[in-house]
Amino acid sequence: MENSNRVAIITGGGRGIGKGIALHFAKNGIDVAVLGRGYDKLEQTVGEIEALGGNGLAIKTDVGLLQDVESAFDKVIERFRKIDILVNNAGVAQPTNPITELDLAYLDNIINTDFKGVYYCSRRAAMEMKPRKSGCIINISSVHGLISLPCIVYGPMKAAVNMFTHILARELAGYMIRVNCIAPGYVQTQMASDQGDRNIELFLKNIPMHVPMMVEDIAELAYFLVSDKSRYITGAVIAADAGVTSDGGWHGYGR
Ligand code: NDP
Repeated sequence: MENSNRVAIITGGGRGIGKGIALHFAKNGIDVAVLGRGYDKLEQTVGEIEALGGNGLAIKTDVGLLQDVESAFDKVIERFRKIDILVNNAGVAQPTNPITELDLAYLDNIINTDFKGVYYCSRRAAMEMKPRKSGCIINISSVHGLISLPCIVYGPMKAAVNMFTHILARELAGYMIRVNCIAPGYVQTQMASDQGDRNIELFLKNIPMHVPMMVEDIAELAYFLVSDKSRYITGAVIAADAGVTSDGGWHGYGR
């Protein structure tokens, strides 16, 4: 009953980590609106939410477009009356090409989705949450935002999301709105598969625990961060990465 009448918006809820979080929240009684560009996938998530006995809403949205975000939030308020939780999960990655060879289109696409999208959605969520003096925002960044890895646009944008988390958490703390961030390592999703077998083999070799994570692992952590059990945790960037960010210079010791 802890969650009855709580409403969450999850961006990129049509597949991967976002879908995992959407289903986990729905299983725990939270009403969930999923936002993304591909409507069919969002509808499928909503179908699965309803099969669990939950309430879902699919809204076609490009989070990099302010007018799309504003209209999506309006639709959520119209249907569910309020927003208690925002999960900024939508993201696009890039190939590991050097700067001289990377298509410039990645620059705009990643800045728009992975940073501006987080900004637009958080801005609107803060407007809804501040008068009610409650709310939770979770950003999904990456280990690429914590350590130097060969992704020249994705890494800096995820680092920006980490700092955005700290600043927004401080700004909203007086309103009892908590802002936290999960920085995953390698999670088995389409985005990870798109990196190709060779890269996946390298990831697994270099992850200290040598295991991929599942979307459910991230979903459990996200649920903890919106639960009362974490009521005084705000401004945290939590690496969920099977040891990747603790690896540092260990390779220099041959271990
Ligand atoms: P997927 O590629 O499987 O899913 C990404 C989701 O984001 C899709 O549902 C996609 O839907 C949506 N999306 C992309 N662009 C936009 C946009 N402009 N507007 C709205 N929605 C958009 O990725 P993951 O589930 O693996 O990743 C989720 C998050 O986790 C991302 O932020 C990613 O950077 C981060 N992450 C993932 C890791 C991994 O190993 N998988 C590791 C570290 C971080 P659609 O295309 O229909 O819009």
